[in-house]
Amino acid sequence: MSSNRNHKNVHAFQKSNADRNARRRELYKLMPPEEKKILLARRRAKRAEMRKHNLSESSMNNDLTTASSSNSTIVSVAQSSNLIMRKPMLLLSEIGSTMPSEMNYIKLKEISNCQFCKAKKFEYEPPAFCCSNGSVQLTSHEIPIELKNLYLDNTELSKHFRTYIRTYNNIFAFTSLGVTYDKELAKRNNGIYTFRVQGQMYHFINDVIPTNKKGKNLQLYFFDSQNELQNRMACSNKLNEYVVRTLMEILKINPYSMFLKSLIDVPQLSDFYIALKCDSGLDQRIYNLPTVSEVAGIWVEQDITNSTPPHIRIYTKSDKSQLVNYYYSCYDPLQYPLLFPYGQGGWHCGIKKIKCSSRTSTQIYCEQEQLPSIKNMCSIDGLLNMEAEVMLKEKHKRDTISCREYYCYKLQIRDDENIVLHARRLFQQYVVDEWIKIESQRLDFASFNQDLIRTDVLDGILDVLRKGEREVSHIGKQRILPLSFTRGPRDMRRRYMDAIALVQRFGKPDIFLTITCNPSWPEIEEKLISTDEVQNRPDLVSRVFRAKIEELKNDIMKRHIFGKVAAFMYTIEFQKRGLPHAHFLIILNENYKLLTPEAYDRFVCAEIPDENIYPYLYSLVTQHMMHGPCGKLNPTNSCMKKKGRCKSKYPKEFVEQTTKGKNSYPIYRRRNTGKSVKIRGHFLDNSWVVPYNPYLLCKFNCHINVEICSDIKVVKYIYKYICKGHDKIAFHIQTNDVNLEIDEIKEYQSARWVSPPEASWRIFAFPISEMSPSVYHLQLHLDGQQLVSFKSTDNINKIASNPMIRKTMLTEFF
Ligand SMILES: [Zn+2]
Ligand SMILES: [Zn+2]
Repeated sequence: MSSNRNHKNVHAFQKSNADRNARRRELYKLMPPEEKKILLARRRAKRAEMRKHNLSESSMNNDLTTASSSNSTIVSVAQSSNLIMRKPMLLLSEIGSTMPSEMNYIKLKEISNCQFCKAKKFEYEPPAFCCSNGSVQLTSHEIPIELKNLYLDNTELSKHFRTYIRTYNNIFAFTSLGVTYDKELAKRNNGIYTFRVQGQMYHFINDVIPTNKKGKNLQLYFFDSQNELQNRMACSNKLNEYVVRTLMEILKINPYSMFLKSLIDVPQLSDFYIALKCDSGLDQRIYNLPTVSEVAGIWVEQDITNSTPPHIRIYTKSDKSQLVNYYYSCYDPLQYPLLFPYGQGGWHCGIKKIKCSSRTSTQIYCEQEQLPSIKNMCSIDGLLNMEAEVMLKEKHKRDTISCREYYCYKLQIRDDENIVLHARRLFQQYVVDEWIKIESQRLDFASFNQDLIRTDVLDGILDVLRKGEREVSHIGKQRILPLSFTRGPRDMRRRYMDAIALVQRFGKPDIFLTITCNPSWPEIEEKLISTDEVQNRPDLVSRVFRAKIEELKNDIMKRHIFGKVAAFMYTIEFQKRGLPHAHFLIILNENYKLLTPEAYDRFVCAEIPDENIYPYLYSLVTQHMMHGPCGKLNPTNSCMKKKGRCKSKYPKEFVEQTTKGKNSYPIYRRRNTGKSVKIRGHFLDNSWVVPYNPYLLCKFNCHINVEICSDIKVVKYIYKYICKGHDKIAFHIQTNDVNLEIDEIKEYQSARWVSPPEASWRIFAFPISEMSPSVYHLQLHLDGQQLVSFKSTDNINKIASNPMIRKTMLTEFF
């Protein structure tokens, strides 16, 4: 269920399927009994064949959702799970008797590089992940050797440069940055630095001449240039004069810097029209670097005509800041001169894909993209008009590189060392900036296409109708986010409804599992170069975590470590400092339900294992699975609520035996053995152990909490976004005053927080939640909640009385 991309197709597909099934049922009724018998026998044989086929599917094909796009989804997936029934790995009763010897950390498989772009790959990444099977091709990243040394050398100066890289970049950046970031997380000496941003990021260009004596950004290249070094040094007391001098020398080759310095020789500068071009017009697929005349120009005012290339005018002294639009190619090089010292452009519309005729069209496992193909667009109106046209054309095959594809390609690890990935804190900023760019484009798209995407649940329309509203455009006073917008209120609400539908169909969940990324996984550490620190490589963190999630999915769904699974779902979340974790809900097959304390003990343990018998497991439990300390031992721990109680209720009571417990949660065995371990300065015993599964803990070597649960509330918990925050808006529309103006886009944009790992996760188009079997239509069970699309010019009576709206795939099918 990660992709909404198929939504439309699925509708069409299911409709035709429903028609066909109805016809079949009619035919079947008319058949003579012998023929019915033959037909049924043939059916059985066919099903057996399919089951065999499912069995032989390679374990690489882990994408359960692709196999389940038919109406028989639920049936076929549920049936095919009587596969490989391996013996459940480590039974808890075995602790203390024999421990399977293969209990070890299991690394991800090595995967060969992409045959097209030579990118290094991690297990489970689809072939099209890096370069869309060769159709995206961009030149590699060039930087002067002196700068490369600052990034990669081990000298004291280079180390100093890397520590203060954002400061250095800021004083050389041509544009200033407008952003709200979490200052607590960005404090030096306060834990791990994280560049976490709220709301939008803006890049501004200022006048050439500063209003006061102190210049900044592009002014430093031009104003008082004899004293450039001193002026730059005055920007911060962290700077090293030698490094500043070196960078000034390096940036002499930068075309923007050259342009600004050349202005010094222009007499009466204020008489001229000075502009930076939005796009150098260079082909980024072949190696070439922009020249001064390609990035900027100076004209006499009268010469400005329609044929003058799209540009940003800069003034000598106007007291105005110009916004650099995110869709300009110059957006990146103006803000990141230390990443793009030659002024290389970033993404812009119209970069062509490479046509490969031999390529088979592989399904890309990623989120929907709705981006148009346009060239040299310089106004937002033009861009959006084009997008609207594309949308109308429906199935438009893009032949240009989308913004997401572009940055996904650029963030790959290839042999020609990509300096951007090693730019530490500057890389954190860059990743966040580029993701916000991609999302801004999607939001702008939604904003300017309200007519086309206005989709609401039928209930909403009927409400309005009851209140006497007749014109659809009245409902449309609010700007709304489409269902297809990932993490928008409608998307989150649908995910939640799908989850509820799954539980309605398969019963309460049995196992609740939380897995948290371990930044010290060997797969991550191996890929770090000597100058890297893991927190500055959000790309690596995301990719390895995603691969682990896929592996865990296989354990649950294909290797049946908990027994046969009827259904499962998971959501991905990012902690404050950006580390991802995932919540899984697993619903077991009827015959595999965990009903007794003995059954619980088979899968869940909440005790410190014997150090001598299980040294590896012991080290993992003490590393990953000890809660807190909190409470009296540490009253300020993050789990502490206002009343001075731990929200997870640690430390727990000692008990001799696992029991069912009063609520929907069991009480696990925690014996008072007198044994304790020193954790974060305190001795903690069995009452502090977070319930775990020994096999999974050993295999994955990270915090992985496994609990038995039969509480439907956990569904709400894992979809908690729906219960708070931006989702409120979606409910407003149905219940509140119709005259209320609602701007979901603005609300979403200003409330959103973005951390570097989340930004790279989304740039890589990894799913933020999934469920299996897929629920494409179950949501329509909820009566009156069918989705309706309408244009604001439609008459509301016409919409509500249209029989097609009442007809859904589901009512057609059954
Ligand atoms: Zn590739
Ligand atoms: Zn606690």
